Amino acid sequence: MAKLSDKGLAGLTLKFKKRLAEGESLEDILPEAFAAICEADKRILGMEPYDVQILGGIALHQGYLAEMNTGEGKTLSATMPLYLNALTGKSTILVTANEYLASRDAQEMGPVYRFMGLSVAAGVTVDPTEKLSNEDKKAIYAADIVYTTHGTLGFDYLIHNLVASANDRFLREFYYVIIDEADSVLLDAAQTPLVISGSPRVQSNLYKIADFFVTTLVEDVDYEREKDRVWLTEKGIRYAETFFQIDNFYDERYFEINRHVTLALRAHTMFQNGEAYVVADGELVLLNGATGRMMNGMKLRGGQHQALEMKEELKITQETRSVAAITFQNLFLLFPKMSGMSGTMADASEELWDIYGSKVLVIPPNRPKKRKDLPDRYFRNSNRQIRAAVAEIIKVHRSGRPVLVVAASIKDTEQVSEDLMKKKIPHNVLNANNAFWEAEIIKEAGRKGAVTVATSIAGRGTDIKLGKGVGSIGGLAVIGIGRMENVRLERQARGRAGRQGDAGTSQFFVSLEDDVVGVDESSKLYKCIEEEKKISRRKLKKIINKAQVIAEESGTLSRKRSVDFDKIMQRQRNLIYEARNRLLDGGNLQVEKFMEMAEKNIKWFLKSEEFEDSQSINRYILDNISYRLDEKGADLTLDDEEEIKGYLFKKIEQGLAEQEKKLGSKRSMNDFMRMAVLSAIDDAWVEQVDYLQQLQAAVSGRATAQRNLLFEYQNDAFESYEKMQASVYQNAMRNILLSNVFLDQERKIHILFP
Ligand code: ADP
Repeated sequence: MAKLSDKGLAGLTLKFKKRLAEGESLEDILPEAFAAICEADKRILGMEPYDVQILGGIALHQGYLAEMNTGEGKTLSATMPLYLNALTGKSTILVTANEYLASRDAQEMGPVYRFMGLSVAAGVTVDPTEKLSNEDKKAIYAADIVYTTHGTLGFDYLIHNLVASANDRFLREFYYVIIDEADSVLLDAAQTPLVISGSPRVQSNLYKIADFFVTTLVEDVDYEREKDRVWLTEKGIRYAETFFQIDNFYDERYFEINRHVTLALRAHTMFQNGEAYVVADGELVLLNGATGRMMNGMKLRGGQHQALEMKEELKITQETRSVAAITFQNLFLLFPKMSGMSGTMADASEELWDIYGSKVLVIPPNRPKKRKDLPDRYFRNSNRQIRAAVAEIIKVHRSGRPVLVVAASIKDTEQVSEDLMKKKIPHNVLNANNAFWEAEIIKEAGRKGAVTVATSIAGRGTDIKLGKGVGSIGGLAVIGIGRMENVRLERQARGRAGRQGDAGTSQFFVSLEDDVVGVDESSKLYKCIEEEKKISRRKLKKIINKAQVIAEESGTLSRKRSVDFDKIMQRQRNLIYEARNRLLDGGNLQVEKFMEMAEKNIKWFLKSEEFEDSQSINRYILDNISYRLDEKGADLTLDDEEEIKGYLFKKIEQGLAEQEKKLGSKRSMNDFMRMAVLSAIDDAWVEQVDYLQQLQAAVSGRATAQRNLLFEYQNDAFESYEKMQASVYQNAMRNILLSNVFLDQERKIHILFP
């Protein structure tokens, strides 16, 4: 490749495409295509991929989750598989953890693809207030290679499936995706579903009474709790039944009571003021568990937020409906080819295999690692811990080495900063508030004498290069404060130092007061903390490390649970999206099919309680078939179902014929029927999504040893799906027969749905 002229090199893209069209596979052309893009990387970016980066590129093409350390050059590695897969002409996407990284990578790597004759786009806006239109998005996703974030992609997927006409769709069929920082996306962020909210829901008046009820309960008598679960005992259930005067707490009729009690119970037991949320200016503001940052404007779903507001005696905010929802797990499982890269995945390889069926492959570093990971230091309380850490920071700082402090919680970053200030040590503090600005600062964190204090996710994805002369005096020192939720987070922190065989050190300062240990005031350990009672290092070590293991296990478990729940919604979502797409793509609703639907509707009606007398037949007609009644309705014999059916059928056929006459042609009638059904599906599906979200919250409160939550959820979800189908049929028929339709001068259809 080195011998080719620029033109010859760029011309290979067309040749590769031709070979693919003639039946060669991506594997066949991989060596040449990789060689070509390597040469282009060298000429255009001035960087020639190292062998290990090529190895990483192959792993990414083959669908592995490639573990490559920070600073190994993942961005460049990704150019190879992205180029290769984009040659197919199918959608090829790289997702990163934030907008800053997506636009940076698209900008920096873009010239290579363009040189090779492929198009590239960033799917995000740098300015968050700037909104992209569907047309903008169409142009973005039409690019051969797209750099975006997982959040943007997820919302785009949902929006794409809410459009009203085929023309508004903007995504191409998913094909290949590389997920950067894959562990944080696939594991840490996997449980928060992306939700599009819609119209407000009617305000429930049950929050107050449920909240009051819960305050009268006694732990271990009326309810029991585990780490992240709480449920009523048999006794508690009996009590609830008396309290609310109902015969069966779990009966469908009392779903709302059940749900509100669950929400209130969780509000009082699982969410601590100051930990999960704070109250500021009469408003409930959630806190990010990892960073402690206030998440203004974020709300818990399914009524949990309102239950918390009630607990804090705040004004209850409006609950909105969920219109569409998906989790990252399911989003990425939609790609036929998924791969990922990160510096820390090997620790979670089992879980990643379980959930995604993807294997982790550890790619060796380009240069052997020289970083020294020093033994952890253990303290009985956070005072001692921070004091020692600050002393160490100052000591290292005096030697001229740069120091990066990575703290498990925001309050520790603040404490360290305050202490450094007292000692007059200049430093920067990063709390993961602004990715763009923080990236600029973290880039400089390797300069001689720099001190940077950050939370674990601040400035992620940005490489810290050592300043002049820093390598020879020992490189970057990472000082970790606090045992983290899992080992991966700690490895990420350590990985900031010692990139590309640089010198460097890392050391953690941990204590009994770290969040993950979760010592509460009633425990014996609390004494050690408060009264500075002596405790052996061995014992400290055991307690603190065990707390991390437990946190990890509980994380894995709850992720598994949410995957299982979500799989059920996924199945339903697939069916609905398929049906929508068939309609959007011009599939017609055949008259026979419509009559089948109508027949089912009539059968349901005749079986239902609504059907009692001839009066009710007329009511049914008015509600579902026609605004015009005739004499005949009153003469029907009520026990002759065939006669009633025949009569209703005739009215339906009449209605159809009238609508067609108004529209003037078969074609317009087909278009109209399609829109009417689409609207029926959407209305029903929105209800269903909303219901499933609430059901999840409700079911989780039914946990007792004998109940299988997933099984119950599945049953309820299935039943509600069947009901939803019935309401689609009903609404479709009503939309078609009772809509007010007309054509304007340009022969555009206008519909006023009933
Ligand atoms: P990672 O995401 O793996 O931490 P980056 O993609 O940010 O690493 O790359 C780290 C740094 O190494 C970047 O500044 C990049 O320009 C540089 N780099 C990567 N690969 C090479 C290479 N083959 N030759 C020279 N520099 C490289």
